[in-house]
Amino acid sequence: MNTNTQHYLSPHASSVSSAEKSTEDAPNNKVWTQRVGVPVWVTASPFIILHLCLVSVFFVDVTWQVLLLCAFNYVWRMFGITGGYHRYFAHRSYKTSRVFQFFLAWLGGSALQKGPLWWAAHHREHHRHSDTPIDPHSPHETSFWWSHMGWILSNEHTSTPWESIPDWADKWELRLLDRFHWVPGVCLGVACFLFAGWSGLVWGFLVSTILLYHGTFTINSLSHLFGSRRYATPDDSRNNFFLAILTLGEGWHNNHHHYQSSANQGFFWYEIDISYNILRAFSWFGLVWELRKPNEKALTHRLIKPLEGKALEEVAARAALADVAPTPQA
Ligand SMILES: [Zn+2]
Ligand SMILES: [Zn+2]
Repeated sequence: MNTNTQHYLSPHASSVSSAEKSTEDAPNNKVWTQRVGVPVWVTASPFIILHLCLVSVFFVDVTWQVLLLCAFNYVWRMFGITGGYHRYFAHRSYKTSRVFQFFLAWLGGSALQKGPLWWAAHHREHHRHSDTPIDPHSPHETSFWWSHMGWILSNEHTSTPWESIPDWADKWELRLLDRFHWVPGVCLGVACFLFAGWSGLVWGFLVSTILLYHGTFTINSLSHLFGSRRYATPDDSRNNFFLAILTLGEGWHNNHHHYQSSANQGFFWYEIDISYNILRAFSWFGLVWELRKPNEKALTHRLIKPLEGKALEEVAARAALADVAPTPQA
């Protein structure tokens, strides 16, 4: 793809072209905006080809079994992204064993959203620079489409910025999975084909993967645009009930930007957070432990307007119980 097309795809075009000259010449150059030596059509083509393959839904049978398979593969892989990639690898909001950690990485990897370390590193950059010009995917600084998927289609974010994830650098099995991040997804595709033939592959794997892409991506795009703000975070993150349902709890994005290391993003009982409930269920069996939650101080810090009603009652109840919680983040 020619340079003009790259510039069309990239809102960072001017700064990137200077970054391309020499990373050594620019000590402050951020690694996540480095380009790798492959043209943009190479980085974008798997994603585009998968979308084009959607036309196959008109050529295979639709049965309730494959529709259930589609829903099933959506839900557990969404949990792999939210409970694994996001809340564990990016934010370390709970603890687990090395074996279960790898299981979570595999689960997230089967969503074909690159490796757990690549994902976590870029996500940490998002939090570090939210809604500023160097946020990898701010809809305010770029465009809706760039924040939704343009930043992934570009070749600016292909490599894993290891500087952002020093805590994972010594885990060889995660580095290996990060390198061969497509393996879990391909295994799942083959399993779907063996289970229900072409219908299983198309509906159980392809359709659910595409839905999973855009469900996840709404958090980078829509949840910085639409919804309510409870906390005065420096960014424009929003709480959005519909996105929370779609993404198993990630839609409470303003809560999350306020208190990033929390295992629960729905802070109150009526803020549905399915991923957190799955994590809680895992904790009953000893698979995960030390789930971090905001204490009363964190819940009431930087409020845009005072809590009222059931939220206020819940904070008072938690304070009375002296819920265990870490020091709130600034
Ligand atoms: Zn965000
Ligand atoms: Zn986050």
